[in-house]
This record gives sequence, structure tokens and C-alpha cells, in this order.
Amino acid sequence: MSPLLDRVHPVVIVGSGIAGLAAARVLAENGLQPLVVDKGRRPGGRMASRKLGDALADHGAQYFTARNQQFTRLVTDWLAGGSCAVWARGFPTADGHDRVGNGYPRYRGADSMNGIPAQLATNLAVHQETRVTAITAHNHRWEITVESGELVGADRLILTPPVPQALALLEAGKVGLEPPVAEALARISYAPCFALLVALDRPSRVPSPGGLHGDGEPIAWLADNQQKGVSKQPVVTIHAGPGFSTARFDDDPTRITEELLEAAERWIGNAVVTETYLHRWRYSQALIQHPGPYLAADRPAPLVFAGDAFGAARIEGAYLSGLAAGEALLARIGS
Ligand SMILES: Cc1cc2nc3c(=O)[nH]c(=O)nc-3n(C[C@H](O)[C@H](O)[C@H](O)COP(=O)(O)OP(=O)(O)OC[C@H]3O[C@@H](n4cnc5c(N)ncnc54)[C@H](O)[C@@H]3O)c2cc1C
Repeated sequence: MSPLLDRVHPVVIVGSGIAGLAAARVLAENGLQPLVVDKGRRPGGRMASRKLGDALADHGAQYFTARNQQFTRLVTDWLAGGSCAVWARGFPTADGHDRVGNGYPRYRGADSMNGIPAQLATNLAVHQETRVTAITAHNHRWEITVESGELVGADRLILTPPVPQALALLEAGKVGLEPPVAEALARISYAPCFALLVALDRPSRVPSPGGLHGDGEPIAWLADNQQKGVSKQPVVTIHAGPGFSTARFDDDPTRITEELLEAAERWIGNAVVTETYLHRWRYSQALIQHPGPYLAADRPAPLVFAGDAFGAARIEGAYLSGLAAGEALLARIGS
């Protein structure tokens, strides 16, 4: 049994995606070491990268942008420290002519998208492969059950999984939220996305700079991880559009793989497909968001919801949401 898990913590954060890590960092910087638990093998959540044979591919988030001043300062530090790089300032569309974008930088992790959260997680108490199965409340405190059967106590809780997954944990512990909070959370929704990784025996025909916006359906996005600078071996990431991904979510993976490969034929060219991997993201990106950067509840015990469904979307939004959630918790503790 892990001594870290079997105790009461001042703050427990569920999720070591960019939102959970941002919250953890701000709390740790203020002397409150939180415990972060995550079911995945590595920190990062949807900032995910995966090996396919000798190749490496980003199969979740592909790049990020920075508009907010605080996030821009952080990205400037990441650039200086070598953990991220500018990938491009726009990407072509499927017709091969127009360049989408207004020239602002699209950043990528220097090694892979997963490298950024991996670095953010250093010096934090992060427990991977620790799946939460239920959350209950007793005497204004949280009791978090993890898959191994261990119980983690918490005075305060930050939940950063996609909202339906976070709500399922509370439901499993029979925790009822106050109606305004429950109603605000019920309005949030996400789009699913198929991510198909395709390892090739030679370079793809994806045009420079190695990323392109597809026609939308069935292909929304295509990236060549070799050109991107992530993989030494040729491997392409294909993201299906939300229409195709929603309609076909429970279909046979082999059929989905075949259809997406067929749709991507002209970018694969005469390369031989050596291996494929299909990932189904049930909650890929928030479609309907909560307007504020987090949502706090005091009953039955202190709780903050955060992530890319709060405030602004995507990586930048998720980071800012986590930061705001951590700061809100600090303010509540201080008051
Ligand atoms: C296919 C795809 C393409 C994308 N493209 C882009 C892009 O190009 N640019 C961009 O900016 N954004 C993109 N995004 C969105 C971006 O990845 C997310 O907005 C951001 O990473 C969300 O971070 P988060 O911390 O809010 O959530 P997550 O990264 O989802 O983190 C939540 C964490 O909670 C954990 N968790 C869930 N349930 C449990 C449980 N029961 N027990 C323990 N842990 C649990 C998960 O393992 C996960 O690590 C993309 C996403 C996908 C899926």
C-alpha cells in the first residue's frame, strides 16, 4: 500500500492533464503540496504521444497557441528551456492551396506533445496508474476510492477529468451537488474523435510543414510526425471529424481503420502501411463550455471542477482553468 495514498491530504487533484498539473503547480508554489492521481500511465491526459514500432506519434492534441499574456510568458519560458518549439505559422487545407491561419505561432512539444506535461509534473506528488472509482463525502471531507481498493482522504478536491467522467465518480459515491452547480455541469458537452496512427515504410505525402486541415469529414486533420520533428520514422496521425466520429463511435475498429486509410490515400502515396493503431477519444474537445474558468462548490465538501470545458477551450484554456482553480482554492483557504 502506498503511504501517500493511505492518508488525508489537504488537496487531492484528480487528473494529471495540463489543467490538473497547472493547479498542482500553483498550490505547490504556495506551500500546499497536493496529491495528484491519474489513471493513465504517464502525465498529460489528452496531450498524448505513443510509440508505434520505432515511430513516435502525437495522437491527442497536435499543437497549441498562446494568446493570454500569462500563458504566453510561460510558453516563452518553455521555448527558452527547450521543452517546446514553433512548429508552423499555419497549415494548408486539403485542396493544397490556401494556408489556414493568420501567421501566429503554432507550438509543439520539443520531443512530443507529451513532453510538456511530463516536465510540468516533475517535483509534484503525481501518482499515475491510479484510477479513481468513486468519490464520497463524510463530515465535510472527501473520501476517494481508487481501483486497488485504497482510500484517499482529502479536505479539498479538484476534479479535472472531462465533466461526464468526473460526475460519474461522484455518482458512484452517491454525492449530490447543489442544483445550480449540477445544472451548469449538465450543459457541458464534448465531441468524440477517432485518432488513427499509421506507420509507413517511407515518408508520407503530407505537404510541408507536416500538418494539414482535411475536408472535415471523414478527415479533419492529418499530420506527419516525422516532418513535425517528433518521430525519426515515418508515421502519420489522422483525426476523424466530429460527424464521422460520433456516427461511427461504436463501429468495428478494423472497418473504421480501413475507411480512414482509404480517405487518406493521396497523403500516404505509395508508402506501405507497416502498422496502425486506432484510438477512440470519447471526450476529445469541449463543444459547449462553462463560461467561467472553473466551477466551485462548498457542499458536501470543498470541490472545484476545472479543465478545458471551463473558460477557454484547448490546451491554453485548460492550463488557465487549472491555474484559476488552484488560485481559487488558495483564496478560499486564506479567507
Ligand atoms: C484528438 C484530439 C486533438 C486535439 N487537438 C488539439 C490541438 O491541436 N490543440 C489544442 O490546444 N488542443 C487540442 N486538443 C484538446 C486538448 O488536448 C485538451 O483541451 C487538453 O489537453 C485538456 O486538458 P485537461 O487537463 O483539461 O484534460 P485531460 O488532458 O483530459 O486530463 C484529464 C485527466 O483525468 C484523468 N482521469 C479521468 N478519469 C479518471 C479517473 N477515474 N481516475 C483517475 N484519473 C482520471 C485522465 O487520465 C486524464 O489524464 C485535442 C484533443 C484531442 C483528444
